[in-house]
Amino acid sequence: MQSDELIKLDLAHIWHPCTQMKEHEFVPLIPIKRAKGMKLYDFDDNCYLDCVSSWWVNLFGHSNDYINGKIKEQLEQLEHVILAGFSHESIIKLSSRLINLLPKPLNKCFYADNGSSAVEVALKMSFHKNLLQGKLKPNFLSLSNSYHGETIAALSVSDVDLYKKTYKELLINCIKTPVPINDDFAKELNTLNEILEKNSKNISAFIIEPLIQCAGNMHMYSKDYIKKACELAKSYDIDIIFDEIAVGFGRSGTMFALEQCGVIPDFLCLSKGLTGGYLPLSVVITNDDVYNEFYAPYETYKAFLHSHSYTGNALACAAANATLDIFKNDNVINKNKEKSAYILKNWLMLNEFKNVKNIRNQGMVFAFDILHQNPRFGKEVFLKGLKKGLLLRPLANTIYLMPPYIISYDEIDYICSSIREILLELGLK
Ligand SMILES: *Cc1c(COP(=O)(O)O)cnc(C)c1O
Repeated sequence: MQSDELIKLDLAHIWHPCTQMKEHEFVPLIPIKRAKGMKLYDFDDNCYLDCVSSWWVNLFGHSNDYINGKIKEQLEQLEHVILAGFSHESIIKLSSRLINLLPKPLNKCFYADNGSSAVEVALKMSFHKNLLQGKLKPNFLSLSNSYHGETIAALSVSDVDLYKKTYKELLINCIKTPVPINDDFAKELNTLNEILEKNSKNISAFIIEPLIQCAGNMHMYSKDYIKKACELAKSYDIDIIFDEIAVGFGRSGTMFALEQCGVIPDFLCLSKGLTGGYLPLSVVITNDDVYNEFYAPYETYKAFLHSHSYTGNALACAAANATLDIFKNDNVINKNKEKSAYILKNWLMLNEFKNVKNIRNQGMVFAFDILHQNPRFGKEVFLKGLKKGLLLRPLANTIYLMPPYIISYDEIDYICSSIREILLELGLK
């Protein structure tokens, strides 16, 4: 089919996520025919560098030969099997490998098939565990500017108005505590303390995105705050949930952000990079103390009953195992350090613009903010990016780069110089 024809048929029948569909009257919709590495190719063979890792999921490039091969191997054996009462080799291997990468006592993997569902699982599990211990705690605590997904409970603990405001009346109970703006976080810690003094008896868990609030305009904040805040919450008998759905698997600079924070959460949520960006899969990892609260005779009705049809899909697990192979075989975390430093050096050159502010970096995430009156400036950047063969997706006034780790040094140069040109073309001072 031709591109025009595909676009017409698409818009006739597909309602796209995170999109005001009317925008497609003037914003192009781009069907992609094939992809390789950083490059997405459309039906006219135009190429776009995937600067956002296709919504932060892709780690080792599109159509990665190694991952492709492992999925094909799995496909010949088993595509999927019900995970209740049954199991399979790929998920067993994956679970023990994940546990080996994590500090004790994280020891038990509960699977789902997307990030929001992992958050739902963690919230329900924490609430349920407390209930089993005789504590009814129907509230959750989360940070301002947070994003944990868009199903009802995940949205409830989120704080991005754009997604949340409309559904206010549907949401579950959640208390917000302010996220620190900079390294002086005494005030934020104080507020947290006041909230805990007043409400701790009703709060099951404190959920946070460690180090970077990605959907919250790539807000990077203090690991020291995270450590202190978690210790404080724990002292009030509140569970800690780390949502590493976006920052896990090397994005934060270490395999998991918790390593930098010096915190071992009660629940760790992983998804996005887990399968290298290939297939939907998520996991909540917890400890034996939590697990054992539920471990009881059937008649006591203590089981944790939460299930998704595609839980623990074998193809997804094969992709995840292949992803972990690459991390190990290619020494990815260490190599990323050099790459990250190189990108940052280029990124910092955008300092030449007076209206580029708050240039920042954490691991393999790079961002800056633009001072501009035009609320659609981000959209202009997106459109200009396409013309230069870049898939950029600014978040409000924040322009960011979150590339697959296989990005080449030439591609880095091209992306940074193109962004500079785009800002010049848009008349940024
Ligand atoms: C993307 C994201 C989610 C939600 O994951 P989905 O797979 O999109 O449902 C939750 N938390 C964080 C931090 C995320 O970045």
